[in-house]
Amino acid sequence: MRIYVLSRRKLILTVLFLFTVGGFLAITQHSLTIPSLVRAPGTYYMANTQEKVVALTFDDGPDPIDTPDVLDILKDKRVRATFFVLGKAAESNPHLLKRLAKEGHEIGNHSFNHDYQQRHLVEDMNKTDQVVFTATGNHTYFYRPPGGFVSKNQLETTKKNRHVVALWSVDSKDWRNPGVKQIVDNVMGDVFPGAIILLHDGGEKRSQTVKALGPIIDNLRAHGYRLATLSELRTLDSDLK
Ligand SMILES: [Zn+2]
Repeated sequence: MRIYVLSRRKLILTVLFLFTVGGFLAITQHSLTIPSLVRAPGTYYMANTQEKVVALTFDDGPDPIDTPDVLDILKDKRVRATFFVLGKAAESNPHLLKRLAKEGHEIGNHSFNHDYQQRHLVEDMNKTDQVVFTATGNHTYFYRPPGGFVSKNQLETTKKNRHVVALWSVDSKDWRNPGVKQIVDNVMGDVFPGAIILLHDGGEKRSQTVKALGPIIDNLRAHGYRLATLSELRTLDSDLK
């Protein structure tokens, strides 16, 4: 057995280093959440179920070019999904909100203008909710913070504002534009029963997502999965029964 003896100076440096790393991890875990790395308690990012059911979610729309293409594919394949709309984009495209609702999709709230810091969290959430309500007659219930970043305070504020913070458990990484096949592989590589899958139908050109969507649905079904909205997924969650 080897015994390591540290000099006093080295010992102090080591302790300082451990405190710094530990402190950083504590801050990361408790005040800032990156869903692919840390699953924050109190947010909804998956359903606890053995059933092979998953939810497709689309952020940053509605977009006048890509959202109709996404909707055509979903309609063709008889899939209902959840769209986290930006108030700003929704305001310019009320006809797309109407189409989303008419075709049975769920509409979630993705803030008004994608301010990552969410300086006007409640105001922006309510503005977006109002746009959705005016076009569809439905209020939003799930709130997805821009980038998935949410502090404990923001989590509490969202709850008080009668919304549930919804994140995701499978990131298609379509926002990186990695190529159609890679987007499909990212989903299929990480999928599991009860997963919430992150995709985008707005914000920037989403032609790769549009091309990947059909193959994603076909692949999921070939592996025995069925697709549901977030609210439907929630009804299967044994943690909530
Ligand atoms: Zn977003």
